[in-house]
Amino acid sequence: MPYFADLILPLPLEKRFTYSLTPEEAGFIQPGMRLAVQFGKNRIYTGIVAEIHQNPPELYEAKPIHQILDEKPLLTKEQLAFWKWIASYYLCAEGDVMRAALPGAFLLESESIVKLRKDAQPETAELNDDEYLVIEALQRQSSMKIQEVEQLLDRKKVLPVLNKLVMKDLVDLNQEIYEQFRPKEVRYVKLNPDYEPEPEMHRLLDELSRAPKQREILLSYFSITAKSKKALKTKKLLEESGASAGVLKSLIDKGIFEEFYQETDRINFTGEISNHEINLNKIQQHAFDEIQQNFKEDKVCLLHGVTSSGKTEIYIKLIEEAVNRGQQALYLLPEIALTTQLIKRLQDYFGDKVLVYHSKYSLNERVEIYKHVLNNSEKGKIIIGARSCIFLPFQDLGLIVVDEEHESTFKQFDPAPRYHARDSAVVLANLFKASIVLGTATPSIESYFNAEHNKYALVELTRRYGNVLMPEVEIVDIKTAHRKKKMTGHFSERLLAEIKESLKEDEQVILFQNRRGFSPIMECNTCGHSPQCPNCDVSLTYHNHNNQLRCHYCGYHMAMQNQCMACGSNEITTKGFGTEQVETELKALFPKHSIARMDQDTTRGKYAYEKIIAAFEAHETDILVGTQMLTKGLDFRKVSLVGIMNADNLLNFPDFRAHERSFQLMLQVAGRSGRTKKRGKVLIQTFNPHHQIIQQVSTGAYTEMYKEQLEDRYQYQYPPYYRLIRLTLKCRDFSKTNEAADWLARALENVFDRYVLGPEFPPVARIRNEYYKNILIKIPQKQSLGKTKKMVQRILNSFRAIGAYRAVRVIVNVDPQ
Ligand code: ADP
Ligand code: ZN
Ligand code: ZN
Repeated sequence: MPYFADLILPLPLEKRFTYSLTPEEAGFIQPGMRLAVQFGKNRIYTGIVAEIHQNPPELYEAKPIHQILDEKPLLTKEQLAFWKWIASYYLCAEGDVMRAALPGAFLLESESIVKLRKDAQPETAELNDDEYLVIEALQRQSSMKIQEVEQLLDRKKVLPVLNKLVMKDLVDLNQEIYEQFRPKEVRYVKLNPDYEPEPEMHRLLDELSRAPKQREILLSYFSITAKSKKALKTKKLLEESGASAGVLKSLIDKGIFEEFYQETDRINFTGEISNHEINLNKIQQHAFDEIQQNFKEDKVCLLHGVTSSGKTEIYIKLIEEAVNRGQQALYLLPEIALTTQLIKRLQDYFGDKVLVYHSKYSLNERVEIYKHVLNNSEKGKIIIGARSCIFLPFQDLGLIVVDEEHESTFKQFDPAPRYHARDSAVVLANLFKASIVLGTATPSIESYFNAEHNKYALVELTRRYGNVLMPEVEIVDIKTAHRKKKMTGHFSERLLAEIKESLKEDEQVILFQNRRGFSPIMECNTCGHSPQCPNCDVSLTYHNHNNQLRCHYCGYHMAMQNQCMACGSNEITTKGFGTEQVETELKALFPKHSIARMDQDTTRGKYAYEKIIAAFEAHETDILVGTQMLTKGLDFRKVSLVGIMNADNLLNFPDFRAHERSFQLMLQVAGRSGRTKKRGKVLIQTFNPHHQIIQQVSTGAYTEMYKEQLEDRYQYQYPPYYRLIRLTLKCRDFSKTNEAADWLARALENVFDRYVLGPEFPPVARIRNEYYKNILIKIPQKQSLGKTKKMVQRILNSFRAIGAYRAVRVIVNVDPQ
């Protein structure tokens, strides 16, 4: 009897592909192992064994395999089941999931490029002859293609030998140039060694007798370092001496102190565990108990806790329970770059049990973490990271925490698989019979709906930790202020007064504006023309610092024009405003204070984000201006005022979730204020002070917002009442895009009738010279999801068989965000 293996290949194929096995191979190979196989004319790919059976394929003759790459499975059976679910739910290929799920180093193929690892220390004695040959060759030339390796070794041996070398951490595969991601750099200070001898020290103190503040720092320094020999954090020195960062800076400038940086390590945690106990207060304990109770009943738990209620402490306790049982825990976050504070909190508590997994990590690091999780090793019991963490090879997953569950960035946008990590995590938990908690201060309508309908359990925390009051929210009507000419630039009198007050009290301020750049649109007063991107259907945005007009979609830029390009008039006005303009105005208004900006433009460089946060934490910055990057769970201690510069452009976004999103965003930014004893203040500037969402934000009326939005969703047939599948057609040819979209929409209407909307151009209908057109399918609750998807798939298959539309790509997005 012949044997066969069904393989998942890293390609967008609709089906698995079958290969033949010898009886010996079949006796050895297990599902989850990697095999090298030939696919297409001459190319070799790495495939994953999904199933072994004895049924020959009907339509083609199964080819033998090329090589076995693993001695034991690299994937668990849960992973295989999970991939299958993702592919069928999100209408994509298992091969797409494979590419997203596995570190590239596991995907040996004939196009791979091999390099010696920089830190490799090959021990000749531990290499066999073949391995030695490859290493020796790589020491002579920097990189080799697989074909070149084939000239060294028997062709059959190439992939297994390379695979061994990857596993021994000696070579890199397909290594792209990754910027090494580092959670945080911590700053330290030390005295210039020149001043260490006693006489020098005294001379220095005398010298500084006329600079008492500087002298104070120096004395604090001596007293701290006398007690402990550990490196001294800049932050600690400032705290203990009570001095300002400016005073310290002048000492550094004089060369008396030296500052240096140390990274908090990514994988190898080297700091001590601070081992502080966490004692939940009564309210937290109650919530914790409720969650545990619901876990016993296998319920997904939605933890709705206001900002700063101490949700993180509860998660830590839950994780501790799982780890004490010997199980693994997964902590999912919307965006890892924004979580250095959180990583630190977890590492302080759990030490090197915590591993951070990040797509920006180099392949080796990801391979390393993958292996730790696969081996269920002590290091890596707790995984923290963004959405792709759900693909790790968990052995015994006990708990998943989805923090900030309402965040839309949990949804992968491009490329396929376009999965929602929160929803997928619920399925993953179910596969492992693991507990799962979704936490947030502003639940998504979908999750709250699930809780209301008993699909999830709801646990609430309505008070901030330590009885800190929720910030006081004040709405500022800037329509009237504009009319009465009482605005200074984009600042109302109220906002300016509050900023001044905070600064006077030596407190910090956060200002939120949901647009970057200086001003989004330049418009000619004479003819109304505004400069457009030549590649995309959008206006260019003015950036002041480099005097450029830029496209935020494709990066196209040109020098700022002083005359209208259409009519030559030089009466050009700007419309709208972005973070850069807020920053510029602030600098003019508060020249003595230090102001920083956090948006996509200022966080591009290495560690740029970390530096902005660290400077703000250390109170080197007084005012921080930023986009929604500011909203993400940051815990600053000295922020007493949050200003929302303009609430209206959030509310007017053309999307059925715009109101929900605005509410979440504003409440989250507001939550950055007053996290310690003093009550914080939030000012919202708006042209529509009576808008229901703004009113609801001001009173924190979540359920009111929820009920109202739900009614709209019901009436206009949107989630959670209807499910959505969005098909986006994309092509460089305008009329092809239209024709194809019409064909597809008609075919869908034949089956789904009035539940098909469009085709319609999205707000930006052309990006990088490609035209886009959308078709939306709505699925009522009682209609079978599985059958609907099968039907959509069938129609798409017929569509793809039409030669005339070959150039048109269709992107399928299930549950679009
Ligand atoms: P959330 O995640 O709900 O916004 P956090 O977990 O960040 O809130 O808690 C807010 C602040 O209160 C943090 O600085 C945290 O350290 C502190 N805190 C919360 N619970 C406790 C506790 N049980 N013991 C000590 N500090 C706590
Ligand atoms: Zn003009
Ligand atoms: Zn463009």
